[in-house]
Amino acid sequence: MHILLGLLIAFVIVVIMTRSRRATRACRWREERSGNRGSLRKHQCMACGAEVYRAAKGDPDMCRDPNKRG
Ligand SMILES: [Zn+2]
Repeated sequence: MHILLGLLIAFVIVVIMTRSRRATRACRWREERSGNRGSLRKHQCMACGAEVYRAAKGDPDMCRDPNKRG
């Protein structure tokens, strides 16, 4: 029974990890140079349509979809 319980716990952990990864992977950021404001680079999420302005290089690390709040 102990082995079965261990497998069950491991399975639950895997499910939680994959779900949290999906939440961040769902967003596909694309840099839109036409929407840049000075030094701010415009990034738009292809998945949810969220728009983020960043001064630093690289894509936003998280989704900022206003529809997902609340
Ligand atoms: Zn998104």
